[in-house]
Amino acid sequence: MSSLRQSLKKYFGYDSFREGQEEIIQNALNNRDLLIIMPTGGGKSLCFQLPALLKKGVTIVISPLISLMQDQVMSLHDNGIGATFINSTLDFQEIKHREQLILSGKIKLLYLAPERLISEKFQSFLNTVAKTNAIASFAIDEAHCISEWGHDFRLEYRQLRQLRQRFPQIPITALTATATPRVQQDIIQQLRLRNPIIRRFSFNRPNLYYEVRPREKRNYHQILQLINSLEGSGIIYCLARKTTEDLAYRLRQDNISALPYHGGLTDEMRSHHQDCFIRDDARIMVATVAFGMGINKPDVRFVIHHDLPRNIESYYQESGRAGRDGEPAKCILLYNPSDEYKINYFIKQKENINEQKQAREQLKKVQEYAETNYCRRIVQLGYFGEKYKGDCGGCDNCLNPKKFVDWTIEAQKFLSCVARTREKFGMNHIINILRGAKNQKIYQYGHHLLSTYGIGKDHTTKEWQYLGRSLVYQGLVSQSNDGYKILKLNNESWKILQHKRKVKIALNNEQNNNSQDLDNP
Ligand code: ADP
Ligand code: ZN
Repeated sequence: MSSLRQSLKKYFGYDSFREGQEEIIQNALNNRDLLIIMPTGGGKSLCFQLPALLKKGVTIVISPLISLMQDQVMSLHDNGIGATFINSTLDFQEIKHREQLILSGKIKLLYLAPERLISEKFQSFLNTVAKTNAIASFAIDEAHCISEWGHDFRLEYRQLRQLRQRFPQIPITALTATATPRVQQDIIQQLRLRNPIIRRFSFNRPNLYYEVRPREKRNYHQILQLINSLEGSGIIYCLARKTTEDLAYRLRQDNISALPYHGGLTDEMRSHHQDCFIRDDARIMVATVAFGMGINKPDVRFVIHHDLPRNIESYYQESGRAGRDGEPAKCILLYNPSDEYKINYFIKQKENINEQKQAREQLKKVQEYAETNYCRRIVQLGYFGEKYKGDCGGCDNCLNPKKFVDWTIEAQKFLSCVARTREKFGMNHIINILRGAKNQKIYQYGHHLLSTYGIGKDHTTKEWQYLGRSLVYQGLVSQSNDGYKILKLNNESWKILQHKRKVKIALNNEQNNNSQDLDNP
């Protein structure tokens, strides 16, 4: 047995590492900077806890929430490991006592909030620690909180930018469950990570079942029925505070123990409701997104979204609160296309034009998730830059496939138009050419002279967009990752153009209706 595995067994009682952990730990022991991106429940903590035990000195762990610190310290104590936290819940004497423990070398892991780490008073204590004992490393948990691009930005985390300056020699391990490349880049930059080793794990959560159902008007009975068909406890996410209150109230009238949770309740109420939910005194939490990080209930069996979330990332995080114990759990999104207007309303409130643009992009993506006829995991994981093969066996579309039709000829028209414009344009322009549009961009490039100009008039713009998106999802054409989303042919595209591969497109009701319109103009 390797010595690392022996330590794993000795301190944590586990027989083997999960994929990737051992290599990460090895690099941490070599004092490398690290960025670890792993979905919740993946086993991030071990990646800094085990090195902390094997290195000289104390490892300082930054955590955004007091409850998260307390949980981790408690479970380390259960394993007989010297760990403690210092935060605002402790009085002066207790803090002094803990500082003594740290100086005596009995503490291997010290949990702190970011603002304390940076405070002047604490800095002088840390300097003493550095002299008498040693600071082994910094572990920044929930590191996405440093980024405004993330879903949980915290101003206090911004101060961590000073860390590298103040302790240039000490290696930093940053950990997050946020999957977007932009946030990852931001973390590296803000923490000034030095040539970091970046390890990213799949965000697929195989035990979660994903489904989208049309949301009915005045849908209380739909929700009641849904809950009665499900087992165990669950969360219902709603957009509006008032909806959470109304819904929880009506459910209680129907003998389902449900409590509301939103930012407008008092602190006492919120923590009381949260406790009730965690202790299983309440079966259902009807909540806004204020109910989020730090909720440690592993056996949530379902998460229902009453409204369309703002983006795929939020949906992934919120629905991901189901099934943390690895047992099967369900994520159900109730979707009504009119949700678009509500979200657009919020988008218009944003002052910054770029932010508006970005939010609209994100809205489009989450609509694609709701409307797709393909494996939901393809859209979801694709958003995080992960290629998923589809056919997951754990989403509504895979379990009840829609009707598929052969659109090989359409795909050939589309792809040859991409080829003839030299792979320099995005989907809308390609479709405009196919449909024979008369706009300036087309004339400017002379695209009205192409042989593919106007050969796609037999389908609507919507249908072409649907085909284009399907080709992208299925990996049959590539799309650049910058804002321009330029279409590029790949190996699969060429197979289609050379008649070596067929293209099948799933039809939903909307497409069926459209083609009827075309038949009977
Ligand atoms: P994260 O911080 O990524 O959400 P945790 O570090 O809390 O995840 O780990 C999730 C669970 O997996 C914990 O119960 C942890 O004890 C367990 N775990 C982590 N690594 C291993 C391992 N090598 N073998 C068995 N269980 C592990
Ligand atoms: Zn699927």
